[in-house]
Amino acid sequence: MKLKPNSSIRISVTSKLDGNRSWSLQAIDTCPGSIASPGELFDACKGCYATSGNYVFANVKAPREANKLDWTRFEWVDDMVQALDQDRYFRWFDSGDVYALGLAEKILEVMNRTPWISHWLPTRMHKFPKFAMVFKAMKALPNVSVRFSSDSTVGEYINGLHGSIIVPDDRVDTDQAFVCRAYEHDGKCSGCRTCWDKTVPVIAYVQHGKKMGKVIRIKLAS
Ligand code: SF4
Repeated sequence: MKLKPNSSIRISVTSKLDGNRSWSLQAIDTCPGSIASPGELFDACKGCYATSGNYVFANVKAPREANKLDWTRFEWVDDMVQALDQDRYFRWFDSGDVYALGLAEKILEVMNRTPWISHWLPTRMHKFPKFAMVFKAMKALPNVSVRFSSDSTVGEYINGLHGSIIVPDDRVDTDQAFVCRAYEHDGKCSGCRTCWDKTVPVIAYVQHGKKMGKVIRIKLAS
């Protein structure tokens, strides 16, 4: 018998990702890796899409704020595994980041227990050494693509470390990085699933492409 997932699990759906779902937190509040110095964000985070547009609406912010408390529940991993029963591709953190080690460890458990799903987790938390082991364990899973984000907006990155970079335009050496073409498709993935493909080491997002609008629906898992 399948139990009904706990209704406090809040999943978001973005049109950009072809309707694939994600679990998110409030941007900046949960992004310690975005802070360059007190009061100053890294360049890549200054124009964060998750701090404007639809993301400022109360119905978008509320579930992200609720999720920050919800993940601390003892049953959260079980409830997430149930809530993801029908998903095949899942993105962690359409906004926000895996700011706490305890959360990272719980997400690892969800990833482990949902082998039918390809998980994609972009993050800046790799800057904090205490996360090294949990990210290593995630990367070892065949169904998980963890992408460490570069802070640059001009394509600077460390080979072998970063898995997602921002570039000013699409003049990119395609031997070095896969260029996201969502900007050619009204900001949508349109069938592309390369971010989930762990055999592709680096994705380059063209800066103007990041400004494409998103339509976000929030719904409770059911
Ligand atoms: S690279 Fe592909 S999967 Fe990733 S955001 Fe761009 S279109 Fe979507």
